[in-house]
Amino acid sequence: MKKVVVLTGAGISAESGLKTFRDSDGLWEGYDIQEVATPQAWDWNPKLVQEFYNMRRKACIEASPNTAHYALAKLEDKYDVTVITQNIDDLHERGGSTNVVHLHGIITRSQSSEDAELTYPIDGWELKMGEQCELGSQLRPHVVWFGEDVPMISTAMDICRQADIFILVGSSLAVYPAAGLINFVRREVPKYIIDPKIPSISLGDSFIKIEEKATIGVPELVEELLVI
Ligand code: NAD
Repeated sequence: MKKVVVLTGAGISAESGLKTFRDSDGLWEGYDIQEVATPQAWDWNPKLVQEFYNMRRKACIEASPNTAHYALAKLEDKYDVTVITQNIDDLHERGGSTNVVHLHGIITRSQSSEDAELTYPIDGWELKMGEQCELGSQLRPHVVWFGEDVPMISTAMDICRQADIFILVGSSLAVYPAAGLINFVRREVPKYIIDPKIPSISLGDSFIKIEEKATIGVPELVEELLVI
């Protein structure tokens, strides 16, 4: 079975109603990321950070996967598919993908603020101040904040090296180290990018550019790959 590696960003969930980040002038749902998505923000105002992610979690629970998420799951009929996502939502899993690597964590889990390896499922949308891990420290969202290490990056690099087909969907390629993953895909591998506004960074000539929204471009490409 050929290996398809799909790298996704906020754009794939946009049509499920979850806003992207850079489309709105560097604000995330109206918030400056420095105020809500950094370790410093957590030190200064943990209550605000907790509330911000509680709202994101509520929106995520209320959202449904779209045809792009479902199409990627369907690709598993013929290929060994790994989805590497920068998204913290769980729409790939709910869309049926069985092999998903969350580079930046997942919002439906909490994490010890003392030991990042201690994570727990969250029941419902709200994680409250005062809720503690087994070590007695405050629980925070299980997400990678700007300025933090990305523990899954070397796993993701290895997966990209193994790709026979590579698909990039809905990412501005502005967040590192995730954006650098495209450099680990072998030169001769067919590479596709699906985005209504292809990022201006240099992708080289090797990418086939599909300038479409995810719900159009992904199902079309999947259909093509299923009949090859
Ligand atoms: P980004 O917001 O920087 O870029 C979004 C990209 O998606 C842009 O290139 C845009 O043209 C494209 N896009 C917009 N609508 C689209 C559509 N309908 N179909 C396909 N593409 C579309 O996103 P990023 O590169 O993923 O970086 C943002 C960071 O913020 C990520 O690390 C992520 O963790 C976080 N974030 C996550 C979510 C989520 O989990 N759903 C939402 C917002 C931000």
